[in-house]
Amino acid sequence: QSRLVSVSEGLDSSQGGRMVFAILSERAREEAKDMAKRVKIGHDSHKAEGRRGTGRPPFGLYSAPGSGKVEPHPDEYGTARRLADLLLARKTTKDTAHQLNEEGYRTRSGATWSPTAVSKLAQSPLFAGMVPVRRRKTDEHGNPLDSWEGYGEPLRDETGEVIMCGKGVVTPGEWFKIKALIAERTDDRWAKGKPEAKYLGTGSYRCGRLRDKKGTGELEPCGGSMSHRGGRYRCEVRQTRGKSICEGVVTLADRIDHAVGQAWIHHITALEPGDPVVIEIARRWLAFADPETQARKNEAQKALEAAQRRVKKLEDDFYVYGKMDEERFEELSEGQRAVIESIAATLEALDAEADLSPLTQVAALREAWEAADMADKRMLLKCTLGKKGITVKPAARQGDHTPILERLEFDWLSKKDTATEK
Ligand SMILES: [Zn+2]
Repeated sequence: QSRLVSVSEGLDSSQGGRMVFAILSERAREEAKDMAKRVKIGHDSHKAEGRRGTGRPPFGLYSAPGSGKVEPHPDEYGTARRLADLLLARKTTKDTAHQLNEEGYRTRSGATWSPTAVSKLAQSPLFAGMVPVRRRKTDEHGNPLDSWEGYGEPLRDETGEVIMCGKGVVTPGEWFKIKALIAERTDDRWAKGKPEAKYLGTGSYRCGRLRDKKGTGELEPCGGSMSHRGGRYRCEVRQTRGKSICEGVVTLADRIDHAVGQAWIHHITALEPGDPVVIEIARRWLAFADPETQARKNEAQKALEAAQRRVKKLEDDFYVYGKMDEERFEELSEGQRAVIESIAATLEALDAEADLSPLTQVAALREAWEAADMADKRMLLKCTLGKKGITVKPAARQGDHTPILERLEFDWLSKKDTATEK
């Protein structure tokens, strides 16, 4: 049965792996059972009309015993709302914690606020009055245990809408925005440059000085990020770890920024409208410009993939292992198909909402560049680059007048990136 082979991660039962194979089958059965239970619990909680679950509600909220609902806590709400407002004003979790402490706010136990406490609280679905998804805990071998823990995602009904259990400190809209803002800062793609930086190359320029990175005697480009100070970009590795690690690269900021701007326009104008790369650039740009829609799309996409995985497991359990009667199988897969259809509809609606068309024309992108301020330009540049960014090779010697462009190596976003980064 070829199906069985693929299910078991490519393990071929003819290659003397029968014992492992038997264990895997057993495991697959357990997983299917667990999954069936999860589906049922999902349905039950819909019927229960959004109860918050057990445990103390998060800071800022109160729950009347037995009500299953949350409401603002009279003493804590003010602090919690201040915390949310600081995050919504684009303060980092660190600055938010600092500011709260400065203003004399304390946690429930009277402690000072930490960036982690701020981040965990603000990203808990209950903070917005939404019922969290609960996941079954597993032991160290990954086997399911009989206890469940809240997870950082809101539970959704069949139509993809979040399920509420009262009034939170923030609205769901604000919650998604906060989550996107925190993710934006931790997401590798954006985090390299400080959000408030005013220079084009922060986060995109990389030191191209050759050095022996692995201690094998083989030279490769440093790759350190370049930071801006006093009108010049310099290799961070040299700044922080010293000349003996990397001899570094220094370049005049105005000169390189101007050259990169010209190169960007040149590169964009050479692309065809409708090129998948142009669409990917537009998609990334929109994700930056509209983090809330993007966060909702990511949530929906994750939910869709989870539902598709559940269907696959259901099919394996029924067709391959025969551990479920047909009626049960039909019932469960019907439920999953409904979930998939509704999420797909949600995604479609979100796609329609996030209209890419104004940005998929090359001319429009070029205009966007010309009208953009420095922060927007920096993001447009990042949207167009692959992971390696722009490598700045060192000047051959002092007073080297080689045009700066010849010292730059661009890793432009390619078709390959659009295929794999989805
Ligand atoms: Zn370097």
